[in-house]
Amino acid sequence: MKRIAIDMDEVIADALAEHLQRYNTDFNAKLTKQDVIGKRIAELAPAEHLSRLRSYFHEESFFRDLDVMEGSQEVIRDLMDRYEVYIVTAAMEVPCSFTAKFQWLERHFPFLPPDNIVFCGNKGIIAADYLIDDNVYQLDRFRGEASCLRRRTISTNRNTSEWTTGRTCGNCSWICPKCASGCAEFGLR
Ligand SMILES: [Mg+2]
Repeated sequence: MKRIAIDMDEVIADALAEHLQRYNTDFNAKLTKQDVIGKRIAELAPAEHLSRLRSYFHEESFFRDLDVMEGSQEVIRDLMDRYEVYIVTAAMEVPCSFTAKFQWLERHFPFLPPDNIVFCGNKGIIAADYLIDDNVYQLDRFRGEASCLRRRTISTNRNTSEWTTGRTCGNCSWICPKCASGCAEFGLR
């Protein structure tokens, strides 16, 4: 059985929505997901807001109540019939997120065994066949048969345009930017 590693933030957990909501509340702003396509929030925020903006990720509460990405529970449950599925999150970037992330997974993905949850730093060490991630940095490090899906609303790296365009898979709201065969390989269409 082939193995798929799946990222959390912006793949199954809507961290961007939480980030925007906190920023908009604190600064009486009205930024939307549409506004940040191809950009980071920090590029749209005044310099005096950046310190507070960056601090959100370091609050444990940030990761506790994130919305689930539409379709991700159904797709992962389906994938588990044909693949070993692991959630692989670069939690070392925000060590205070460990407990909140684990509890979030227990609540929203109770069908995933704890053994299939990996908190790590560099995803290049992950021995999986595929990585589903929105982070180009991690995708570039990954040594498996690199294929990826990413959300249309997320574009965190403007310098790697090949990851920022794509088409919607038939059975979920994820995007396969590489080619249609990537979706077919996962059995998502
Ligand atoms: Mg991510």
